[in-house]
Amino acid sequence: MTTPLSFRQSVDHMVQHAMSVLDLDPGLRDVIRTCNSVIQVRFPVKLHGKIHTFKGWRATHSTHRLPVKGGIRYAPYADQDEVEALAALMSYKCALVDVPFGGSKGALQIDPSQYDRDDMELITRRFATELIRKGFMNPATNVPAPDMGTGQREMAWMAGTYKHLFPDDINHQACVTGKPVHHGGIRGRVEATGRGVQYALQEFFRHPGDVAGAGLGGGLEGKRVVIQGLGNVGYHAAKFLSEEDGVKVIAVIEREGVLLNPDGIPIQHLRDHMVEHKTIRSFPDADFEEDGRKALELECDILIPAAMEGQIDEQNCDRIQAKMIVEAANGPVSFGADQKLQARGMVILPDVYVNAGGVTVSYFEWIRNISHIRFGRMQRRHDEQRASQYATLLQEITGARLSEDRRNSVIRGADEIDLVRSGLDDTMRLAYQEMRNTLLGSEQIHDLRTAAYVIAIGKIARSYHDVGIY
Ligand code: GLU
Repeated sequence: MTTPLSFRQSVDHMVQHAMSVLDLDPGLRDVIRTCNSVIQVRFPVKLHGKIHTFKGWRATHSTHRLPVKGGIRYAPYADQDEVEALAALMSYKCALVDVPFGGSKGALQIDPSQYDRDDMELITRRFATELIRKGFMNPATNVPAPDMGTGQREMAWMAGTYKHLFPDDINHQACVTGKPVHHGGIRGRVEATGRGVQYALQEFFRHPGDVAGAGLGGGLEGKRVVIQGLGNVGYHAAKFLSEEDGVKVIAVIEREGVLLNPDGIPIQHLRDHMVEHKTIRSFPDADFEEDGRKALELECDILIPAAMEGQIDEQNCDRIQAKMIVEAANGPVSFGADQKLQARGMVILPDVYVNAGGVTVSYFEWIRNISHIRFGRMQRRHDEQRASQYATLLQEITGARLSEDRRNSVIRGADEIDLVRSGLDDTMRLAYQEMRNTLLGSEQIHDLRTAAYVIAIGKIARSYHDVGIY
């Protein structure tokens, strides 16, 4: 029996597969494929009078554009292989959706549930200090963001640490994204990755031929969805898709098991239950079963893995019965499983596309930080005044009268969240159309993942080519 590929090898195989379609200089292939630099840090923190040592990493995959960008994950199983794989995915993701950043990723080997808030603050500030001192966190060159196990709180501590060390850096707020809104964050960043999953599916369903190719028909309304992981990404994706697009979430898979309800699980209710009870077992509106992984094999229309990498591998891929897979997590399908599923004609919307909403809105946040102004601040009232004049003119010409409510909704100027959502929606639509055109326009490309990589690698290669390698 052959040993299964590591996550990094699995991503590398997918990339090499796409590279075989492109006519690239072999030297340039290696430059693009491999991580440029990886740092491992070990640092002590004194907690309640006892010294603890922690280990973390930050990998920079591709510096063809700066800053490099990508989240920092807190997990007990984190290791260098995973960080390198995730850093590579960040480069391709940014290139695909035209976010002008290189790729990076970080991780700290820690189980956050074992520490209280004050401990976490000390550990996070100490980790940030290590990264800053070694040049792996800086508004111009390397900008972290939240990932699994981290959120606004950790980003605020990291930004605070940077500001403390470099108070004279006028762009200090841009050293990290995913911050709380009142500390330089942007509205819509928390929901962004899940929102991007929703926009990706909406765009897919705008193409009836593509939908038919997955053995489906009609729109999103009523589609049966199985989702793995109700963390930040899974929760927002499931909430928006069920509340706004009418999909039926028939199963939610979590670490301790799976909740099943063929009529659809009320996602907000479940999330509130999880926050209050710290378990899904006692949730009243669905049946609980222990074997969560088995539920990936349920018959459904759309399977959304939104948790960990490597969930669909060569062991279970033949039993997957979903019509299509939407990769909200990074790397949920292994290279071997991907090959087998593609051979079966399974439609897979790939991770580098589906979960790019997070980094897209991080880009907006970074722009907001370096421009030192909230989106919409200059033009919102002006837009409203013009719209109001048009509405008055329309009334005068037609003699019709608009109700107060109708008039207000017509003239309302876009605020920050409207602009963020519109920018994200546009990004997800354009990237899908680019993947689709690449797929349809080539006889050598047979799936959306290869199309995504071909586009991303082509853009990175072009940028190396234009600037030159030195
Ligand atoms: N951690 C997220 C990702 O994997 C977001 C990265 C970012 O915003 O820089 O895409």
